[in-house]
Amino acid sequence: MTITAGVVAVQGDVSEHAAAVRRAARAHGHGRSGTGSGEPREAAEVHEIRTSGIVPDCDVLLVPGGESTTISRLLARQGIDEEIREHVRAGKPLLATCAGLIVASRDAKDDRVETLDLLDVSVDRNAFGRQVDSFEAPLSVTGLDEPFPAVFIRAPMIDEVGADVEVLATWEDRPVAVRQGSILATSFHPELTDDDRIHRLAFFETVPA
Ligand code: GLN
Repeated sequence: MTITAGVVAVQGDVSEHAAAVRRAARAHGHGRSGTGSGEPREAAEVHEIRTSGIVPDCDVLLVPGGESTTISRLLARQGIDEEIREHVRAGKPLLATCAGLIVASRDAKDDRVETLDLLDVSVDRNAFGRQVDSFEAPLSVTGLDEPFPAVFIRAPMIDEVGADVEVLATWEDRPVAVRQGSILATSFHPELTDDDRIHRLAFFETVPA
């Protein structure tokens, strides 16, 4: 089986997420069935989303890091924002990382970000510092056996979580990975290591193999 993944590509680290979702799909067993010709079928078909009309065809979605102001503005301008809301209303998986988490949140406390209001958290942009303060830390994440090598780059801090939000990981007592329904969101960048367990957690617990 091949899953169709959409990576919001108005801005941000798109190709790394595309590679991670392909690895995660392979690791999960999608695409192993083959065509009978000895060639494995593509495990995940990845679409880059810059315009409306693509999201409805996607099984899973990614909103990557980048600049949340730019990403949210372009999503609204292209009408992709409403399509993403519809995707989540339909119960389909969404992984939102770093700026993506800010965009998916209820409140970014910054008028320049039009949040999607899908994830019941409020965030502080750049709370972990500026680019030079970026760091990597091993994180215990609910659902993963071994610590995850989390890369933080000018990361947002989650400062309020709603009752329906499960905190999957914390760093210095602050939530940095959360789950609500079919949404998984991280303050850090799981696509920047070759560890695809966060992508697997986000997508393949709800999409049957
Ligand atoms: N600080 C950025 C923002 O506010 C997010 C940083 C990132 O995605 N690495 O949009």
